[in-house]
Amino acid sequence: MRILIVEDEVRLASTLADILAQAHYLTDVCHDGVSGLDNALSGIYDGVILDVMLPKLDGFQVVRRLREEGCHVPVLMLTARTELSDRVSGLDQGADYYLTKPFETPELLACLRALLRRPGEVRPEDCPKFGDLELDMACGALRREGKSTRLSARELALMQILLSNGSAIVPKETLLLKVWGYDSEAEANTVEVYISFLRKKLQYLHSQVQIAAVRRLGYHLKDGTA
Ligand code: CA
Repeated sequence: MRILIVEDEVRLASTLADILAQAHYLTDVCHDGVSGLDNALSGIYDGVILDVMLPKLDGFQVVRRLREEGCHVPVLMLTARTELSDRVSGLDQGADYYLTKPFETPELLACLRALLRRPGEVRPEDCPKFGDLELDMACGALRREGKSTRLSARELALMQILLSNGSAIVPKETLLLKVWGYDSEAEANTVEVYISFLRKKLQYLHSQVQIAAVRRLGYHLKDGTA
């Protein structure tokens, strides 16, 4: 999953990115409200961690503009302020959760999991499955009948998207944006390279599942036993 971090304190932003990377999330970081809003509107994020006190546009304004634009990405607001009025204000503008600074890592991760699992939202499962495969997001491992292989962060993100879509075709462009992000220099052939890594891992697991390429369209999973 890809999370956008909007936090102007550079050290805190990079700590957040480290914590999330260890929990197998992909992240992008913005340091002001305007670029945060622009990025959040891209539609490639599964969640946004948003500081309240930000240069250019504050967190309340960012979340209000997001909702006005019809963007329903889950938002976790971070604030040093603990006054009730701020909390109410943020929730009124469309934030989903609040976390006050300072916070503990487990608290942040629990909040994020809750955020990404909001009722009514269609969210990929923690352990998406297809055919004989199961992806363990917590361990970052792909499994088949007791045999498992570790995936890199990008492989994990790719596999999660493919598994969540099952036999439906996922456009290559979607994979590129969701896994590498807008600012990345990655190109379509980067996706091909990573798909080839994943195919090798499927072979290693002796899985019946194949990653099939559909010319000019994208990729989807095929269950060889079905
Ligand atoms: Ca701040």
